[in-house]
Amino acid sequence: MNIILIGPPASGKGTQAKLLENKFGLFHLSTGELLREIVSHVNDIQSHDKSTNETESQLSYKIKSLIDKGQFVPDDLIIQLVKEKLAEIRSQKGVMFDGFPRTVAQAKELEKFTKIDFIFEIAVDRQTIVARALDRAKCENCGKDFILSQTNSLLCDGCGGKIVQRTDDTAETASKRYDEYLQKTYPIIDYFKNHEGYYKIDGKKSVGEVYHKICEIIEKI
Ligand code: AMP
Repeated sequence: MNIILIGPPASGKGTQAKLLENKFGLFHLSTGELLREIVSHVNDIQSHDKSTNETESQLSYKIKSLIDKGQFVPDDLIIQLVKEKLAEIRSQKGVMFDGFPRTVAQAKELEKFTKIDFIFEIAVDRQTIVARALDRAKCENCGKDFILSQTNSLLCDGCGGKIVQRTDDTAETASKRYDEYLQKTYPIIDYFKNHEGYYKIDGKKSVGEVYHKICEIIEKI
């Protein structure tokens, strides 16, 4: 079973993807995470060994600056990364796509090599998105998610690691990412609207309510 979650940045896609991945035994493929791994891997190598390949560091620099500006990474690079990842995880029960596809070109390409069973649009307005982006953080060590307004410490209660915000979670970048979503990703909704398995979910509801709605739909079929 392959699932796509479509929604603006900070709409809760990542949180839902983690819950659904556990529930249905799917592989969670987040293109945002893949890109951040490339950037941090190249930075790590550079800090220990100056011999990093110039093409790799240029690519990493380009990716980081696009992410920090709230702009999309080119389709061909994303599609190549997704294909490589899918080849690596062939044995899994299915994939939970998080943040991919984000353009109609990516959606058309994905359909060529993957059967899509469910497409959930998580709908949330701009004001909520900006507020959520400013309030979310993660442990840089174990990846546990935190809501800053509900957290008293700057250290993770699970592993003691530092709780950090993403560099693109500023009010300006969150708003720009929302514009980018409306302009480039929203047309996917039109593209998929009549696809079997397409459902629109109210993403302003609580994490638990959104999760139960999605599970109810999947389990009904
Ligand atoms: P995310 O973690 O999904 O919010 O992604 C963070 C950033 O990575 C986005 O704002 C884009 O700059 C980039 N990105 C992630 N996935 C894609 C994609 N499918 N297409 C283009 N850019 C992407």
